[in-house]
Amino acid sequence: MSGTSERQAPPMVEGHATQGAGPTRFCPACYAMNPWDAAGCERCGAPLETPRDYDARLVWALDHPDGATAVRAAEVLAARRRAEAIDPLGRMSRRTDDPYRAAAAVRALREFEPDRRAEAYLAEAAHHPSVIVRRAAAVASGARP
Ligand SMILES: [Zn+2]
Repeated sequence: MSGTSERQAPPMVEGHATQGAGPTRFCPACYAMNPWDAAGCERCGAPLETPRDYDARLVWALDHPDGATAVRAAEVLAARRRAEAIDPLGRMSRRTDDPYRAAAAVRALREFEPDRRAEAYLAEAAHHPSVIVRRAAAVASGARP
C-alpha cells in the first residue's frame, strides 16, 4: 500500500489508515474512525481536533486503537520526562487487554524514577496478571543499584 498519492502526511497520533474512500482519522473522544474531512465524529459528534499541545497529544495517543502508536507515544513521553505523563502511563501499565502496551508503560515509568508515583505504579506492575508486564517491572527495579 505504498506509493499512493496522499495529502501531506498527518501527524503521528492521528490515524490515517486508508479505508475505501480515502484517509481516515480517529475521534479524540471515542477513537472511532472517521473520514479525514468529516466536520465531527460520526459516532459521538465530538470535534475531530486532537489536542494542540504536543505532550497532550502524546498522552492522548496512549489510548490509541493502534497499539504501536501507543507504545511509541509512551517511549517519547519517557524521553521527555514530563510529570503530567506519569498518571496516564500508570493507567496504561494497568491495562490487561494488551500486555505489550502495559509493558511499554512500565518501561516508560522507569525513566521517571525516583518519582514516588512512578515507583508506586512500578511496584503495582510487579503483580500484574501478565508475566510480560511483571518481567518488565522486575527489570525496572532490578536495574537499579
Ligand atoms: Zn467520537
